[in-house]
Amino acid sequence: MHVEARKADCEDAAFGAPGVRRGLARGRAAEDELTKIFQHAAEHAAAYRRSLSERPVAGPVDHAALRAAFSRPLNRSPADPLTVVDELVAAAETGVVATAGPRFFGFVVGGALPAATAAEILAAGWDQNAFNAALSPAALAAEEAAGGWLKDLLGIPATASTGFVTGGQAANTAGLAAARQHLLTGAGWDLGRLGLGGAPRLRVVAGEERHATVDRSLRLLGLGTDCLETVRADGRGALDTDDLRRVLASDPGTPAIVCTQAGNVNTGACDDLRTACDLTHAHGGWAHVDGAFGLWAAASPATRPLVDGAELADSWACDGHKWLNVPYDCGYAFCSRPAVHAEALSYTASYLTRADGTPAGGADYTAESSRRARGFATWAALRELGRDGVAELVDRCCSLARRFADGLSAAGFEVVNDVTLNQVLVSFGDDARTDHVVRAVQNDGTCWMGATTWRGRRLMRISVSGHTTTEADVDQSIAAIVRLARAA
Ligand SMILES: *Cc1c(COP(=O)(O)O)cnc(C)c1O
Repeated sequence: MHVEARKADCEDAAFGAPGVRRGLARGRAAEDELTKIFQHAAEHAAAYRRSLSERPVAGPVDHAALRAAFSRPLNRSPADPLTVVDELVAAAETGVVATAGPRFFGFVVGGALPAATAAEILAAGWDQNAFNAALSPAALAAEEAAGGWLKDLLGIPATASTGFVTGGQAANTAGLAAARQHLLTGAGWDLGRLGLGGAPRLRVVAGEERHATVDRSLRLLGLGTDCLETVRADGRGALDTDDLRRVLASDPGTPAIVCTQAGNVNTGACDDLRTACDLTHAHGGWAHVDGAFGLWAAASPATRPLVDGAELADSWACDGHKWLNVPYDCGYAFCSRPAVHAEALSYTASYLTRADGTPAGGADYTAESSRRARGFATWAALRELGRDGVAELVDRCCSLARRFADGLSAAGFEVVNDVTLNQVLVSFGDDARTDHVVRAVQNDGTCWMGATTWRGRRLMRISVSGHTTTEADVDQSIAAIVRLARAA
């Protein structure tokens, strides 16, 4: 089709008016220009990636200078695209954080894999809208295939639906929306029509160490955080299942949504999902798993026992942009009841017909309408790694986390959590001293880790989630931390 259009252009140009000829010449020039612009951006991105193991991970930022570099008066007339790309690169320079690099250990995020990044570039280049199969059949087919692989790797039943959402937050919201829909339907309430005013009461039960996004999801869904009934955490930071039993038994007649967790954001601990799901179902409730990063434990035989029973849940939230090393923003909302999932989130309009029997998919399983084609990058990441590569990535990150724990304990610092996954919590003395060491490490630039408060103590939180991190990176980071902590 492309070639035919060009041939037609030539014929028209040969016989057309001078004005038309000029227009076509401009069009062709623009085509070459487009290649140049895309290549230019890709070269910048690749050069940046190549520099990652050498450049400071982060460091003190002059926010005023950074903002000034961006905030200039908006030009009246159009600017040359190539110049715009150069200007963007120059403006962003001092404010880009090397999260994609091998020594970034903050926020449980990993660096994007090469094929996944290239797929993301293609998704933008193709400019696909993954709203439905009419707007992008390829985007929906990629989501369907990648969704199948994800369910297989994560131990989620193949019959579950998959929504490609923006991240763990959106996946939690989607899962809890499906839970709310299902339990209120069961109570004879038409939620879609009547809303929550006057609706039968729902219970929401979650661990005291749940991720804060669960609370935001509850606010967005109109359930509010006062409805939360909190279950105690055990010593590792996982749900205390005896306490869950007690909480559920305290009000057996009211339908309950139980939010479980695979991967405590501080300790990495995974709930006993089998027991939690069984207890929830014995009470007629809905079990949701917030497995933003921890559900990836299922992808390796070595860590799979940590999330045993995950398959019993009713909905699952997981991230692509954390441990799978897919570019931001990418998360997955899975639901054991596809019809409920779509009922909670999809909509119909006069211009949308499914007379051809196209299956639900795309935006039916998300709270969005027009969407970036997220399936391409996930499909590419999973192909790039393969089943064994995903397992190896999980195992390697866990083993590097243990290397951090061993190295820092050997240097005399206290590792306070049981390192079962990719998270390590370290104390350097009292709270002030620990905060001081974390700040010194962040300013030093060798590596980056955040601080957290767990069980009332300030701690350094180390998350190993990137595919490029090696033992040498961990050793180099440990050396920097020990040097800075001893100088503190
Ligand atoms: C990161 C995280 C989230 C939120 O995920 P986003 O992708 O940042 O929206 C939710 N739950 C847990 C356990 C997380 O670690």
